[in-house]
Amino acid sequence: MALNNNSNSKNTPLQPLIQINQAGTKYRLEPYKNKPRFCTNCKHWGHYSSKCKNKTRCNNCGGTHKGKCLRAQPKCAQCLGPHLPKSPACQATVREINLINEMEIQQIDYKTARKKT
Ligand SMILES: [Zn+2]
Ligand SMILES: [Zn+2]
Ligand SMILES: [Zn+2]
Repeated sequence: MALNNNSNSKNTPLQPLIQINQAGTKYRLEPYKNKPRFCTNCKHWGHYSSKCKNKTRCNNCGGTHKGKCLRAQPKCAQCLGPHLPKSPACQATVREINLINEMEIQQIDYKTARKKT
């Protein structure tokens, strides 16, 4: 599986265990070789934006508006809860993490793991 776009992955130094992305979400990169898939377009877990056919959604309010978000309280695009889509408080985030765990433990691919969970 050549999902890794990192062309110079051979000589890259060890990555830290926790990396923080733009949204401020902490990620555990190791020891998992599989990473959770998050769509930066529709703000859902389970696929990448390159494969997304959904409308672009706001990370803050989950809406499809254009321009700056005016909503003070975040609203999750996935479960409509009062948190950001990548928040550990989101059941969809928990589900995705569990799915990656299953993949690691059972040595199965993403599709198989998704059917099981
Ligand atoms: Zn998407
Ligand atoms: Zn918004
Ligand atoms: Zn949510």
